[in-house]
Amino acid sequence: MLNPYQTKLVVIKRVIKESSDVKRFVLEFENNVDKENFNFIPGQFIKVSIPGLGDAPFSFGTSPRIKENFEIAVRAVGNLTNFLNRMQIGQRLGLRGPYGNGFPMDIIKKRNVLIVSGGCGFVPFKSIIDDYLIDRKNYHGKFQIFYGARSFDDLLFSSNFEKWENNKIDLKLMVDKEDNMCKDSQYKCNVGLVTELIKNEDLVEKPVVLVCGPPIMVKFVILELDKLSIPHSDIFVSLERRMECGIGVCEHCAIGPYYVCKDGPVFAWDKIEWIPNII
Ligand SMILES: Cc1cc2nc3c(=O)[nH]c(=O)nc-3n(C[C@H](O)[C@H](O)[C@H](O)COP(=O)(O)OP(=O)(O)OC[C@H]3O[C@@H](n4cnc5c(N)ncnc54)[C@H](O)[C@@H]3O)c2cc1C
Repeated sequence: MLNPYQTKLVVIKRVIKESSDVKRFVLEFENNVDKENFNFIPGQFIKVSIPGLGDAPFSFGTSPRIKENFEIAVRAVGNLTNFLNRMQIGQRLGLRGPYGNGFPMDIIKKRNVLIVSGGCGFVPFKSIIDDYLIDRKNYHGKFQIFYGARSFDDLLFSSNFEKWENNKIDLKLMVDKEDNMCKDSQYKCNVGLVTELIKNEDLVEKPVVLVCGPPIMVKFVILELDKLSIPHSDIFVSLERRMECGIGVCEHCAIGPYYVCKDGPVFAWDKIEWIPNII
């Protein structure tokens, strides 16, 4: 029987500092067979292993259409992520996956899309946006993004903002407090909570709404969307839970009748809103 925890090796090809505590890693499979067989859906995740430290889930930050390599972005918050963020080009990592269900790309491709996100929760949306930029003919709606972070430095992928705007993506940024980077940037930094953008901006018509970020943000985003009577079946939330196995065995990420690792991490809000303390 195959060992489900067997890892495959990837080589770190590039390391890019995205903010004071987030680094982006360009990863490439060592083995060509692994490379050719590796497919994923935006919103799915991999588990990256570090011997002695265990493993941790990370979202894909690039389009699945790019076969040569893929990217993850890692915020240093604890043992494994701090170790990872000290790793260098040429070093190897073990990973397994992809796991989880991913975003409903068939719906996303047909509808106007509103992405509401905070901090590192933005990583899986970069995968969708990259995909949209490569494959625009198959996306039939508009893209609107409300993205918030503590400061301008904490907004990930800022080197892509101009490209996104040039491709008709309506990008609205929100920071907790204004700083010099904000003032010097060509982008308007709204100051406050990302939920205020939902209150104050004209939303794309009848959007499918994709949400990922800190649980407290998700909670208030849903409350604001409720004021606009957005159907809960049109809201998809990607949940971040501590998880161990990643394959629906260990129960660490169990919520109600679901496992976040196997049945999620993306859930239509109407399917999980009844679960106590879900956010
Ligand atoms: C589906 C999924 C996708 C994710 N994608 C990304 C990503 O793209 N980039 C990224 O930087 N992080 C992502 N995370 C979070 C990442 O997995 C954790 O930050 C990581 O496991 C922490 O490991 P550690 O050993 O460094 O920290 P630990 O020492 O385990 O914990 C340090 C601190 O981080 C908190 N923490 C640990 N795990 C989580 C978690 N899952 N959610 C929230 N807080 C946590 C702990 O409560 C503690 O306060 C994702 C998590 C999930 C479940």
